[in-house]
Amino acid sequence: MFGRLFGAKTPILESLPEVRGKYIENAKLAKHTWFGVGGPAEVLFLPEDADDLKAFMMRKPEGIPVTVIGGGSNLLIRDGGIPGVVVKLDTPAFKQITFNGTEVTVGAGLKNSDLKKALVDNGVGGLEFICSVPGRIGGLLRTNAGCFGRTVSDVFVKAHILNDWGNVYETTAEDFNFSYRSSLFPDDWIVLDATFKGEKAAPEEIKKIMDEHSEYRRSHQPINQKTAGSTFKNPDGLQAWKLIKEAGCAGMKVGGAEVSPMHCNFLINRGKATAADIEELGEAIIEKVKAKTAITLEWEVRRMGVKK
Ligand SMILES: Cc1cc2nc3c(=O)[nH]c(=O)nc-3n(C[C@H](O)[C@H](O)[C@H](O)COP(=O)(O)OP(=O)(O)OC[C@H]3O[C@@H](n4cnc5c(N)ncnc54)[C@H](O)[C@@H]3O)c2cc1C
Repeated sequence: MFGRLFGAKTPILESLPEVRGKYIENAKLAKHTWFGVGGPAEVLFLPEDADDLKAFMMRKPEGIPVTVIGGGSNLLIRDGGIPGVVVKLDTPAFKQITFNGTEVTVGAGLKNSDLKKALVDNGVGGLEFICSVPGRIGGLLRTNAGCFGRTVSDVFVKAHILNDWGNVYETTAEDFNFSYRSSLFPDDWIVLDATFKGEKAAPEEIKKIMDEHSEYRRSHQPINQKTAGSTFKNPDGLQAWKLIKEAGCAGMKVGGAEVSPMHCNFLINRGKATAADIEELGEAIIEKVKAKTAITLEWEVRRMGVKK
C-alpha cells in the first residue's frame, strides 16, 4: 500500500516525478464512474499528452501501482478506493481523430459518442456501433465492446500502447488476444490511440443507423440511470438476463442497489448505494442463478480497488 491515505508514512505525491499534466490527491472517483460509487484515487493523474505520460512512466518510483480508467462505464470501484496512481486520458491531446481513407485513428481518451460527427462528415460507415457504446476508446478496446452484431475486434486495425517502462509500441489484433468482452493484453498497457477500418457510406445512411441505435438503447436499456451496463457476461449460447429472470432475481435489492426493472442484467444505483451494496447484490444473483441452473455467471463489470 502507498501514501498517507492507504497507511504508509510518506505521502505518495512527494515521490512522484514532475509532470506537465495534473496530479489530484485523494480524488473522488465516484464522479468518474457511471455507477457513481467508489472511494478515492490516492492520486489521480491527468497527463497533458502522450510524452508527459511516457516521462511519468519512466520516472515514477518502482512499485507504485498504476491503474488506467476510461469513461468508467464498465467499472465498479470499491468504497476503499484505488491505491497508487490512477491515470485518466482526458486532455485534447488524447481526443484527436484522423482519417486515412476509410480508416480512422482515434485518441484513447475520446468519448465514443464524440466520433459520430466525424464519421458522418467523412462518409465512413460500419463503425456506427462504436459510437453507441458508453465510455471512451481505450476502454472500448480493453473490453472488446460490442453491440448490434459487431465487436471492436471486427473493425480493429492497430493501436499504440505505452507500457509500464514508458515504451510505446504499435500493436495489432494478435497482440490484443481479443475474446468475448475482453482483450487479454498485459495489465500495464495503456492504450494511447486505436485505428479502425470502416467502409465508404452515404452520410445520411450513417446518421440513420446511429439514430436507430440510440433509439434502441433508449427504449430497451436504463441508459439514464446510474449503471455499468450488462453486469454479467452471457454464458455460451445463453443470455444472462434470462437466467437472472428465471432464477427469480427481478426486483432484488441490497441497500441502495437494485436489479433494473427494465433489464435484468443491469444493476442500478438508486442514488445512495455503496459499491459494497452493488457487489453484494451481484454476488447474491450469482448464487441464485447457480442454485437454479448450476451455471456460474461471470462478472462483465470490472471491479477495482479495495473494500472499506
Ligand atoms: C448504459 C450502458 C450500456 C452499455 N452497453 C454496452 C454494450 O452494448 N456493449 C458493450 O460491450 N459494453 C456496454 N457497456 C459497458 C461499457 O460501456 C463498455 O465496456 C465500455 O467499452 C467501457 O469503456 P470505458 O471507457 O467506460 O472504460 P472503463 O469502464 O473506464 O474501464 C474498463 C476497462 O478498460 C480499461 N481501460 C480504460 N481505458 C484504457 C486505456 N486507455 N488503456 C488500457 N486500458 C484501459 C480499464 O482499466 C478497465 O479495465 C454499457 C455500459 C452502460 C453504462
